[in-house]
Amino acid sequence: MTWTLAARTRKMTSSAIRDLLKLTERPGIISFAGGLPSPAAFPVEAFAAACDKVLTAADARSSLQYATTEGLPALREAVAASLPWKVDPANVLITTGSQQGLDLAAKVLIDPGSRILVETPTYLGALQAFQPMEPTVVGVASDESGALPDDLKAKAEGARFFYALPNFQNPTGRTMDEARRVAVSEAARQSGVPILEDNPYGELWFDAPPPAPLTSRDPENTIYMGSFSKVLAPGLRLGFLVAPTEIHHRLVMAKQAADLHSPSFNQRVVAEVLKDGFLDRHVPTIRALYKGQRDAMLAALDRDMSGLGVSWNRPAGGMFLWVRLPAGLSAAALLPRAVEKGVAFVPGEPFYAGQPDDRTLRLSFVTASREQIATGVAALAAAVREAIAE
Ligand code: PMP
Repeated sequence: MTWTLAARTRKMTSSAIRDLLKLTERPGIISFAGGLPSPAAFPVEAFAAACDKVLTAADARSSLQYATTEGLPALREAVAASLPWKVDPANVLITTGSQQGLDLAAKVLIDPGSRILVETPTYLGALQAFQPMEPTVVGVASDESGALPDDLKAKAEGARFFYALPNFQNPTGRTMDEARRVAVSEAARQSGVPILEDNPYGELWFDAPPPAPLTSRDPENTIYMGSFSKVLAPGLRLGFLVAPTEIHHRLVMAKQAADLHSPSFNQRVVAEVLKDGFLDRHVPTIRALYKGQRDAMLAALDRDMSGLGVSWNRPAGGMFLWVRLPAGLSAAALLPRAVEKGVAFVPGEPFYAGQPDDRTLRLSFVTASREQIATGVAALAAAVREAIAE
């Protein structure tokens, strides 16, 4: 007997990054590859206290019981209250990471052949979530401020949605400025294209908060996704989405089939941790930590990469920085040479829906220490110099 696989499995790809991470987890390799939040930022003590409280509460056992698909009411209320526009908790859905939000949105909104629009480049995990539903994925031309409104309009005909990452984007670290948000929002509205806004990094700003989310400008035509992964801990696997009532209803049904509900215990614990404005005290410590790491990486790049024809951006928050190699070099070809020298990164290629720019690569500045950043960037520069010389 042989298994006959569903045709859609041909669209299921293993994350190039996860595969790469295996390679770079070798001891001695300084990795700028993974998008892992710094464990130093996990609030272990707050979690210990909250777990204790949840498990000694009069209704302790209900935290270990099945629960509603929509999510714990206290957590949905906390999410609604944390957002900078008027959100009814009834429109919040607690998800198993915002990655599940992407998967559910794909199931509810994409038919085979549906046209969907993404930024260029875009989050690889979103492409992975969308692809099994067999859409036609169209990249919207983008610059350092995000998608270009005219290109969005030009490609909008019949599109089911435009997937946007306005804050400290993965992979580029770039942010949409206010003028671009206004223009993109207007272009989407005029073209009748709903927006799927993904905002896991918005709180991780370094000097000033980013402009208001796209959703706040047109909540009826947007699904907004957020996450506890970057402000608390990714291992919780808790995220959330906010959707207009009709779409919310459909997403709840899709989630019922996927996992019934996100872990009750984790939701209770997070609701407990969030009490008394915990994030207002905790998130500034993450911002300070990551800002120092970004500065260390920029200083190392300025010191070691200048004059090599390499360019990079200066992200105002988040976890990533985007680098472009000089003409004639390919990031994928550079990687084995860099790993040989003890440093790893992610080539930009898998982040593109269409024609990739093979000179680009992503560096994470949050997982390695400042010392490792200095050593790793020097090793990367040595690899670039060698590649140029060949
Ligand atoms: N969206 C983006 C842009 C991300 O970078 C990530 C995490 N890498 C996710 C969604 C998924 O995050 P989580 O499922 O941990 O909330």
